[in-house]
Amino acid sequence: MQKAAYQIKIEGVVQGVGFRPHVYRLAAEHGILGWVLNSSEGVTIWAEGTEAQVEAFYNDVVYKPPKLAKIVNHFRIPQTHENFDTFFIKHSEASDRKDVMISPDVAICEDCHREIVDPEDRRYHYPFTNCTNCGPRFTIIMDVPYDRAKTTMREFPMCPECGHEYEDPGNRRFHAQPNACPVCGPQVWLQDIQGNRYPGLGHEYLRQGQILAVKGLGGFHLVCDATNETAVRNLRRRKRREFKPFAVMCQSLDVIRRYCQVSPAEEELLTSTACPIVILDRHRTDDLPRDISPGIDTLGVMLPYTPLHHLLFADDMETLVMTSANISDDPLIIDNDEALVKLKDIADYFLMHNRQIFNRCDDSVTTVINGKPQVIRRARGYVPLPVELPYEVPPILACGGELKNSFCMTKGNGAYPSQHLGDLNHYGNYQQFLYTIPRFETMLNVKPEIVAYDLHPEYMAAKYAKNMGNVKLVPVQHHHAHMASSMAENGLTEKVLGVICDGTGYGTDGNIWGFEFLVGDYCGFDRAAHLSYQPLPGGDVTVRCPERMALTYLHQLFGEEGLAAAKEFLNLSETETKVVLRQIENGINTIPTSSCGRLFDAVSALLGVCRVVQYEGQAAIELETILDPAETGSYEFELNTGLKPYTIQTGPLWQGLLKDLQAGRSKEIMSTRFHRTVVEMIDRVAETIRSETGINKVVLSGGVFQNRFLFVHTLERLTKAEFEVYYHARIPTNDGGISVGQAIIANEVVKNVSGNSGESN
Ligand code: ZN
Ligand code: ZN
Ligand code: FE
Repeated sequence: MQKAAYQIKIEGVVQGVGFRPHVYRLAAEHGILGWVLNSSEGVTIWAEGTEAQVEAFYNDVVYKPPKLAKIVNHFRIPQTHENFDTFFIKHSEASDRKDVMISPDVAICEDCHREIVDPEDRRYHYPFTNCTNCGPRFTIIMDVPYDRAKTTMREFPMCPECGHEYEDPGNRRFHAQPNACPVCGPQVWLQDIQGNRYPGLGHEYLRQGQILAVKGLGGFHLVCDATNETAVRNLRRRKRREFKPFAVMCQSLDVIRRYCQVSPAEEELLTSTACPIVILDRHRTDDLPRDISPGIDTLGVMLPYTPLHHLLFADDMETLVMTSANISDDPLIIDNDEALVKLKDIADYFLMHNRQIFNRCDDSVTTVINGKPQVIRRARGYVPLPVELPYEVPPILACGGELKNSFCMTKGNGAYPSQHLGDLNHYGNYQQFLYTIPRFETMLNVKPEIVAYDLHPEYMAAKYAKNMGNVKLVPVQHHHAHMASSMAENGLTEKVLGVICDGTGYGTDGNIWGFEFLVGDYCGFDRAAHLSYQPLPGGDVTVRCPERMALTYLHQLFGEEGLAAAKEFLNLSETETKVVLRQIENGINTIPTSSCGRLFDAVSALLGVCRVVQYEGQAAIELETILDPAETGSYEFELNTGLKPYTIQTGPLWQGLLKDLQAGRSKEIMSTRFHRTVVEMIDRVAETIRSETGINKVVLSGGVFQNRFLFVHTLERLTKAEFEVYYHARIPTNDGGISVGQAIIANEVVKNVSGNSGESN
């Protein structure tokens, strides 16, 4: 039989995920001789056997990889036979493992779970059990290459038994860097604020309705029994968080089903290795306190993703509130001492451990729409995986937006978004932004020379960029970035129509844009149409108080008559009304805005649904919550095509709303009619632009598309009109996703500038 020899290269996330032992087992199965090695780009295999054996082996390696591996590229090259008589794992040199992708943190696997509940197992009830298929990764990595010595596990030398598992290629823990057991690994303890220690994990305190601060994978959580109304209310009071929904963790899928509807796609997402929070529809009659998600019909739910989480549950306690432990919008707390200081008035007990969290990482938040997952907040379980760009770009740092900041760094054709960093206006979040950037440089082994930033002069990330020396700076318009992100995620490079429904973004005319129709590509855009401008008096004050926006709309559209309607339907005091009107009149602190978010706010306030917001998007979310699926009506509006850009005029919409209000129509019906009107607006503008430009590809982006009704109906409507519609899935449609677009736009801008100067005579 003719013998064959091949060198096989596998690139992608293939290290720290059990790839080599997997290859080792496959080699034995297929009678393959040779070796496997971690190399600079991934894994290299030398395989000898018959053609048929190698073929079958290669197919299994590539198409049946370990669960956590993400193969980006693979190929094989014929070699001269070297007559190996065994198959072995070659030792790699640390220095040549710089370019390998790092895995995100992975939820506990079934094998490890079985061990922690087996009284006979040496890891029975051990909260830090992990293996090559699961456990911490990104949150503990301090440097590359990924080795125990470069993680926060370096404090814990392995005991002989763990060391044996680590060295044995046939073992599930072969080269599992965070491998640990009760003898040698990290330990957990329960204490109060004074430092008094208590036995156990605090079950009885949770049962009594007390609040625990629990140190997890990417940070601390505040935890209480979710079925205990008093406990939930206490947590709200102590955290000074009245309305923003809490996430819960349920012991099992069956428990989740008790409270929420779970579709097959949602089940898949809940049980995926990332184990994110999934936003689910609550049953109308579940027996969880409504206070967990006041005013809305959805609930953010996740399953236990560490051994410690599993151990927190008990037969009589199957649902826990698990909310990020932070103060207002500051970063998640990751440090034991910091927790004791900052949570002293919130938590009754602290469940601590002695493994350091190096990279802070919030729980990711996701949702399933039309059977497809969409990431809303991208962090634990997804970071630092890349988003593939349509082509290779030089190393770029894109600084992202202001709220929900996430920057991104590029390498090759990968865009690596950072974990969600939050509102950079908060000192702590900005600090985290500052120290996470160099960490990404280290992790990716790049030094960006191109830096993209948002046009908004007040954004912290933009100020940061403008203070950098020795780099090419590229300002990028906010909604152009939204559009480009959506294009990049979908691999588009041609001209498209970007439909952006957004809250706030700085426009090229200095106004606040938000409901935009942009025709263009990565190189540039034309603003083809937008919502007509309204004054935004007092900026952020009005963002927090939708009633002020409703007043503005009524006054601008209908003058004295509008003011009378405002008096009838809004709750604003006379003084506040005067202040707003004076601001508009004198233009004090008043900028014209075409924001889609503010339109939703204003309507929400007019209908009396939400007059003051406590968290971003609250007014729109509550307006969406009351939708009536049976209602099919909508309001009129005008599309003004006299001048370019075209403008959407909302006068008839507001007339319709006032007429319905006066007729005593229910707010459920009015909310639905309003939502449907926005869908009509998008459709009419898109069709108008298509008839003029012939562009048939539409990309959707912007934070307002988190509104499920708006997204689903827009998609349906545009698809029916035979548009090709693209939208986000792996990166957020909100500002957490714009850095990817900024990066690819910056690449085009720099290319064109240097191209032009090089070509000119
Ligand atoms: Zn495991
Ligand atoms: Zn051990
Ligand atoms: Fe935005």
